[in-house]
Formats: sequence, C-alpha cells, structure tokens
Amino acid sequence: MLMSQIYSPTLRETPAEAEIVSHQLMLRAGLLRRSATGIYSYLPLGLRVIRKIEQIIREELNAIGSQEVLLPIVQPAELWHETGRWDDYGPEMFKLKDRNGRQFSLGPTHEEIITALIRSEVRSYRQLPLSLYQIQNKYRDEIRPRFGLMRGREFIMKDMYSFHRNEEDLDKTYWDAYHAYERIFSRCGLETRAVEADSGAIGGDVTHEFMVLADAGEDLVLYCDSCSYAANAERAEGVPVDNGNIPENKMNKLAEEATPQASTIDQISEFLNVKSSEIIKTLIYLADGKPIAALVRGDHNINEIKLQKMLRCESLELADDETIFNVTGARVGFAGPVGLKIPIYADYAISTVINAVVGANKDDYHLCNVNLNRDFEVAKFGDLRATEAGDPCPRCSGTLVGARGIEVGQVFKLGTKYSRSLNATFLEENGKETPFVMGCYGIGVGRTAAAVIEKSYDEDGIIWPLSIAPYQVIVVPVSMKDEKQAEAARNIYKELEAAGIEVVLDDRDERPGVKFKDADLIGFPLRITIGSKSLEKGEMELVIRKTKEKLSIPIEDIAQKVLQLIKEA
Ligand code: ATP
Ligand code: MG
Repeated sequence: MLMSQIYSPTLRETPAEAEIVSHQLMLRAGLLRRSATGIYSYLPLGLRVIRKIEQIIREELNAIGSQEVLLPIVQPAELWHETGRWDDYGPEMFKLKDRNGRQFSLGPTHEEIITALIRSEVRSYRQLPLSLYQIQNKYRDEIRPRFGLMRGREFIMKDMYSFHRNEEDLDKTYWDAYHAYERIFSRCGLETRAVEADSGAIGGDVTHEFMVLADAGEDLVLYCDSCSYAANAERAEGVPVDNGNIPENKMNKLAEEATPQASTIDQISEFLNVKSSEIIKTLIYLADGKPIAALVRGDHNINEIKLQKMLRCESLELADDETIFNVTGARVGFAGPVGLKIPIYADYAISTVINAVVGANKDDYHLCNVNLNRDFEVAKFGDLRATEAGDPCPRCSGTLVGARGIEVGQVFKLGTKYSRSLNATFLEENGKETPFVMGCYGIGVGRTAAAVIEKSYDEDGIIWPLSIAPYQVIVVPVSMKDEKQAEAARNIYKELEAAGIEVVLDDRDERPGVKFKDADLIGFPLRITIGSKSLEKGEMELVIRKTKEKLSIPIEDIAQKVLQLIKEA
C-alpha cells in the first residue's frame, strides 16, 4: 500500500476530547473518528487492527470447536419480556419501535436471542454440547461513555454461548474457553490476569474476568503478593475474624451521649474522641421491600453485592428517610443495633469490637460501651465489607495488593438461568425434559485494541506488536525525488509484498522528519529507511519501533531479516 493513498489523517495536536493515552493516540494516528458520544467510525488503519484481533479470536475459538454465527442486532421485545430483562436491563438498553408500533431493542447482549434459537432447534442430548460465537456490534446506552473504544455505546464484541447436558460438561468448555482467552490475549501482545469476579446478585456461579493491569482501567483488582489469588475488588473475599466471646469484665457500662452536631463517622470519632474502628456503622436497607439492618465497622465500607448475596434477595436499596424514621424513631445518622426490631446482619469484624459507639435510635444521641450479645444480637454474620488493598489474602498468609484493571473479557457459567426463564429444554437419555446448562463468554474487541496501546506506547506514538499492527513494515526513502532512493524503495517494497509481508511505501514528497513522525505515531513495528549514504554502501537501515534499535543491513539480506523478525514474533 502506498502511504500517499492511505486514508489516515494524522494529527499533530492532542484532541481535547481524549483523556487517556489510547484514545488520544487512536485519534492522532488517524485510526478513529468520533460520530457521537461513544460512537465511532473506524478508519482504514484502525479497522485493520480490529480485523486482526478478530482473526486471532476466530482461530482460537474455532480451535476449541466453537462455530461462528451472526445473530440479529435488532431483537424483538417479546423475548426480553420472557426473561424479565426488558425492564431489568434499565436505561442502558436502546429501544425502538417499527412502523407498526412493535417494540425492539438494539442488542446489548444476546442470551435471549441465542437461547430462543436453540430451544426450537436442539431437541436431544445427542446434539450437545454446542458452542456458537459471533463478532458484532453491541449497543449499550452507557451512563458514562468515555475513553474512546474503552467504553463506547456502540462497540464490537465477540460473544460466545455454549449449551450442555450438565454442569460437568459446561465445566470442560468453560476451561477450554478460559485457556483460549489466555492464548488470544497473549497473541495480541497483552499480559492479562484472570480474576475471580462477581456473577451478579443471584446464584453462586463461577466467573472470571480477564484484566489488563493499567492505570486507565476502570476496575479495581486485588491480588495476593505471595499466591495466585486475584479478584475484582467487588468480589474479593474477606477473611473471617472471630475473637470468641468478649469477657464480661471487659465490658463497660452502657452510656448515652448527646452528639448534637455529629452524625457521620468522622464527626462522631472527633466529637467522642474514639477511633473509627471503635464505631459500628448501622445501615438500614430495603431488601425486597422489607427493612433490614447491616452492620460494618466504622473504618470499613459495606459491599452491597455481598450483602445482597447473603440475603438472597432480588432487590436491595438503601432505605429512604421515612423508613429509617419508622424503623429507628430517629433521623438519618442515628441508627444503631440496640433495641432494633428488624433483622440485623453483621460483618465478621463486628464480633471483635468491644465497647463500641453506635447510634442511639434517638435524634442527636449515640450509645457508648455497646457490646455484642449483652446489648444486641445479630441474626447472621458474614463477609459484608468491601475488601481493600492491605487486607489479608483469603487463601494464604499473604497480603492483598491493589491495581487498576481494564476488563478485556469475561467467561461465565450461567447455569440454567436463561434456559429456565425461556423454557429451553432438550430430551435427556432417559426421556426427561431437561433445561440446557449454559455458559457465555465475551471479549471487547475495541477495548482490547485500546488496552494494547495503554500498555505499549512512547512519547512518539503507538508501538504495535507485529501480530495486530495495521501493517508490519513501512519503507521510508529519505527523498522520493532522489531517483536512486525511489527505485531502491520501490524494489524492496515489491520484494516484501511478494513475500507476503504487509508493507507500506511512504512515497509522499514530504520532509523525512514528517515521514518518520507519522511512522512512529502510527506505530509500524518495523521501518526500513533508505538514504543515499547507506545506499552507496549497498545497505539499508532497519529500525525496530519498540527498541528504536537501528540495524544496517545489506540490501540483499533485508527481506530475509524482516521475515525472520516476523517469524520470531
Ligand atoms: P463493564 O463491567 O466494563 O461494563 P460488562 O461486564 O458489562 O463490562 P460484558 O457484558 O461482560 O461487559 O461484556 C463482555 C466484554 O465486552 C467486556 O469484558 C468488555 O471487554 C467489553 N465491553 C463491555 N462494555 C463495553 C463498552 N461499553 N465499550 C467497549 N467494550 C465493552
Ligand atoms: Mg463483564
């Protein structure tokens, strides 16, 4: 391809709309242009990167026996009503009507469509397992679309779905997909960490997210400094603590203190001169509409996902002021466990707080020297607090370290969640109607490209790995006007092209500085520079983008050298 012909409008300045490096560089290198918030056009070089990632995905998924399909983007509302997700999905779903008033969504995901497809076609256990995938646009009206391809409203996803007779069979495909993902990301030049993740509120299903550790990441990952434990912070387990029963002689006399201006933990801690770890936070929630209290230590935060799991409820929300008043008899900020008539759930750490400070369930008052069992009782203890960096590892004696992560993919054991709600069954060997056991597996294709850049760039631009670079080599004659250089450049360009190498010839009549800048910005992994001096010696210069290493190579060997570097990669 000739550089003069490629539609790749590079920018010298960083566009104001872009906050993170990958977004800035994709715009500057002319890979991408914005159409609307979170909606982009892919220009030729950007699309080449996307197509290469897709190709790697195809090869690895075909290799584990999955088959490619293409499902509709426009999906009938009826299917979403069957699973209840027409309402549950919320404002993230783009909805539209046809000319007859029939409702549709622009698919944010495809569990409904694929399960409905399979329920009417696959009838026998003999047809299982079955695994299908597609690579296609998804639509999600994200609350905060940002960072270019990282969080778009229209974005390309690979989604795979698998159907099984039983959990055991699902488990096999789940780990096949997990290992295929490891290969896919590694072939894209990405180091990923598979972390245990949350599977949503209902069910104890297994799921892993594939994270690229990078500052631009929107997730918080916690991993152990000495074993392989790693989890999304949302999900990371706390370690049970229990100091047994508090000895009676350590319990001071219960006392009520006026705390007129103090309702937050910080205010109370200052006002009563106690550590925040000596205060118990009492949070009132509505779980499926019924009030409950949740206790965590003052210096800890509650993890609502864990609370919802413990309560096994469908909905969980902080109670409104009116409910709090009805339950505690006080304004917000003065709730406490003593005398409460609603069920009380507590984080493990609560069992170790002696002579605690709690709200008095009375406006402007707190209670001091409150002790578990003597002054209040707990319906159930559990792991309810948000795990943080510095906490002990739940698997070994190590300590958890925190890092930001970009979620590039996720594998998920769905079980029978969708097959049951959509009534998708097959006939087991014994003739029994049985719901399919399902798995689903996603990869963000554009997000993967963005993550590669976040991990691989320098002050001059993108550094693509050879595997997904838009082109592998650029040939840059210092001056196209010098007939000798121009001829040598055209010759090596043709030779490389004939050898099946993806090569660009910078045939533009530009200053060499401009050409080198563009080559570095776009991030061609290899550059061949042709100048009159080296030509006289019968050599060309091969520049490795990543290391900036410059090698003088005899003209007749250069194609061989390029082939060798590509092979090694
Ligand atoms: P997130 O937690 O980042 O919102 P998700 O858990 O909702 O993602 P999934 O439904 O698991 O995402 O989608 C599979 C993959 O699609 C994700 O791992 C991610 O790589 C990608 N993805 C999800 N949402 C977006 C988006 N808005 N823009 C770009 N890629 C996305
Ligand atoms: Mg996810």
